[in-house]
Amino acid sequence: MPEENLPVSKHFTLKPLTSGVYACIHKPGGAAYSNAGIIDLGDRTLLVDAFDTMLAGRDLRQTAEGLFERPVETIILTHAHSDHWVGASIFEANTTLLASKTIRQVCLEWGAEMMEDIQNPTEWEEWLKDAEEQLQIEQDERVRVGLENSITHIRYVMAEMAEFQPRYADQTFEDTVTFQGSTRNAELRSLGRGYSEDDTVFLLPQDNIAFIGDVGFFDTQSFFGFCDIDLYREQLLIFQDSDFEVLVPGHGPVGGKDDVALQLKYFDVMEDLVGEVALRGGSFEEAMQITLPEPFDKWLVGGMERFEVNVRYLFARFGGEVPEDE
Ligand SMILES: [Zn+2]
Repeated sequence: MPEENLPVSKHFTLKPLTSGVYACIHKPGGAAYSNAGIIDLGDRTLLVDAFDTMLAGRDLRQTAEGLFERPVETIILTHAHSDHWVGASIFEANTTLLASKTIRQVCLEWGAEMMEDIQNPTEWEEWLKDAEEQLQIEQDERVRVGLENSITHIRYVMAEMAEFQPRYADQTFEDTVTFQGSTRNAELRSLGRGYSEDDTVFLLPQDNIAFIGDVGFFDTQSFFGFCDIDLYREQLLIFQDSDFEVLVPGHGPVGGKDDVALQLKYFDVMEDLVGEVALRGGSFEEAMQITLPEPFDKWLVGGMERFEVNVRYLFARFGGEVPEDE
């Protein structure tokens, strides 16, 4: 399909990678928040992840069904974080949700917490009010962008809270699953603990394309909130040393090995700068004042909250005392 005739969504950009393989890249201000993939195996359609909201999930479904004129056979979950699977709940039962055993287990825990959280819409309204007030007076552009993103996200979540029911994987696997389609083969591989409790990647070896979920954050800060940074690095190194030329990250634009190298450099720079403060006995507040060199200084425009999570993680790792999270 010529690019100008591709379906348009306000939540994501549909990016053709090769015939029958599309990356769905989240748009700022939209309800997708994370990336997804649409893959035609010739005889069936697979999706990689399903976005952060039912609203964006509906667009994803419509797009995939429109492209190949059939229902989606399987949605693959790359990991358990809800920004990648809330949208899966709008698919019918004839679409299978497939995840590793570990991912399914963690999804059950997250889902239960989410259902508990949405029992208190007043708390959400209060949060929104406070955030909007802060935005009125906030001068730091990096904080402003983070606040704006969070406000948009919370508004989308609140709009569909009443109808949301989490959907959990109906099929599980361990290690790997191979797909033999009529036009291409694919492999789903668990990399185990690293970025999250278990990260799986979806590989198209004949096309040199890999959907790497949140192992990849391109042109934006990674998120260390749930990671083991040593194992996370190893996950990235797999792709730095591989034949996969086109890499679709969980967040940020489609990239390649250079983006992996840059992401690894972000890890090193953050470790060096935060580690230096912690090792000389500096305070957490000092660690929060570090300035990152180019191009990472621009990456802060993804929100200071993510930056703070990363500084906390590294500061504690280097033996620093981290204040309680409010
Ligand atoms: Zn994510």
